Amino acid sequence: MGRLDHLAEQYPDIPARALLKAHLLFEGVRFNDTVGEAGGWALPSFQPYSPTEEERAAGLPASVPIPYLMVLAGGELVRLKCDPESPYEVVTDGETRQLLLDGEPVEAVTFQPRPRWSEGTTADGRSMANVGLSQHGDMLVINAAPGCEFFTERDAAGRSLHCSFCAYGRPDRRTRDLGQRIGRGRILPESLDRVVETTLAALPEVRHIYLVAGSLADSRQEGQRYLQLTEALEAAGVELPITAGPSALCREDTKALKEAGAAAVSYNLEVWGRDLFAAVCPGKERFIGYEMWRSRLVDAVEVMGRGNVLTAMVAGIEVDHPAGFTSVDEALDSAEAGAEWLLSHGIAPVYSLHWSTRHATYGHVSSPAFDYFLRLNERVDRLRRRHHAAVPGHIVCRACAYMQLDPDLCATREVG
Ligand code: SF4
Repeated sequence: MGRLDHLAEQYPDIPARALLKAHLLFEGVRFNDTVGEAGGWALPSFQPYSPTEEERAAGLPASVPIPYLMVLAGGELVRLKCDPESPYEVVTDGETRQLLLDGEPVEAVTFQPRPRWSEGTTADGRSMANVGLSQHGDMLVINAAPGCEFFTERDAAGRSLHCSFCAYGRPDRRTRDLGQRIGRGRILPESLDRVVETTLAALPEVRHIYLVAGSLADSRQEGQRYLQLTEALEAAGVELPITAGPSALCREDTKALKEAGAAAVSYNLEVWGRDLFAAVCPGKERFIGYEMWRSRLVDAVEVMGRGNVLTAMVAGIEVDHPAGFTSVDEALDSAEAGAEWLLSHGIAPVYSLHWSTRHATYGHVSSPAFDYFLRLNERVDRLRRRHHAAVPGHIVCRACAYMQLDPDLCATREVG
C-alpha cells in the first residue's frame, strides 16, 4: 500500500486532495534541476533553499532561489519547501512537470509564475514588483506599510511585543523603500498612487483583494490607513471584493470601512485562550486585549454581516509554544472550543499551519505536528457542518489558500 493510501485509511474524513496538499506541506520536495530551473521564473520564495554539503560540493551555491508556490493538478496551491529527505520530487516530463512520490508518478504539477503585472512600471518609473503588492493564486495582497510597531514596542523587561510566530512584520529595507515611517498611519500620497496604479494593472489576474499591513499601537490610526486604501481603490473603480486585515478595529472604524466599500474584515485572533494569546501575541494583548479583540469580532459581524468576518488562527502554535499545552488532546480540545465559540458568533476561523511545525521537539512537548494539523481540521470541519457555515470564498478560497486546508474541506462538502 502506498503512503497516500495508508494516510487515507488513517484520516477517512480528510478528502484525498486535501490529504495530498497537507502531506506536501509537511514533507516538501527534494531539490533538483526542475525546481532549480523553476526558481528562475516562478514567484520566488522568501526562504531560498540552503543546499546540503554534498550538493554544495557538487557545485550548488550556499543559497538557491526556489518557487514559493506549487500548483497541484486540481488547482490547489501548496507552499513549497525543499527537504533532502522528502519522499517527493518534481521532474520534467516533456512539456510538463510530474510530481513523484517514492519514485512513482502522482500527478502533473507546476509552480506559480511571477505575475505578469509585476513586470510593469508605474507612471513615476517604479517597478510594479516593488510597490507593496504580491499575488497568491487568485488573491492580490496589498501591503504598502509592512513594518509592524509591535517589533519596536517593548515590555517592561525590554522584550519586543511582536507575535512570536512572525518575522514578516519586522521593519526593514522594504519598509523604508515603500516610504513607511513607524508611528504614521496614513500612506504617503505617492505610495498610494503606485498601489492603485499597480492594482489596476493586476485586476485581470486576480479575483479578490486582501489588504494587510504592520500593526500600529494606535488602532484608530491603523483604521485610517485601511480606510484610505479602501477609498482609493473604490474611487479608482476596483469592483473585486476587498477584505481589510488590520488589528481588531472598534465598531465605528469597522462601519467606516464597510461604508467605504470593504466587503469583509479579517481580525486575526491567532490563538484561542487569554493566557496563550498574551504569550504568543503580546502586542495585540497590550494594545487591544484578548477580551476586546473577541468583542470587536462580534461587533464586526453585526456591522459587516455573517460570512464577512474572518479570523486567522495559527494551527499548531498551541502545542509548539512554551506557554502552550503539554497534552496534544488538551490542545485540540481548546482549539475546538475556540472554533465552536467563533462559529456560533458568525465568525469564520481559518487555520494556517504554523510553518515551523515539522517532526521536532518544541520546547516542552514533542509535537506530532502532521497528525495534529489533520485532526484539528477534521474537528473544525465537523463544527462547520453543524453550524452550516462555509469558508467565505470571497475572502479565502481553494485558489489562494496555500497554508490552510479549510477551503479544501469545505469545497468538497459543498459539492458532495
Ligand atoms: S501584528 Fe501582524 S505583523 Fe505585527 S507581529 Fe503580529 S502577525 Fe506580525
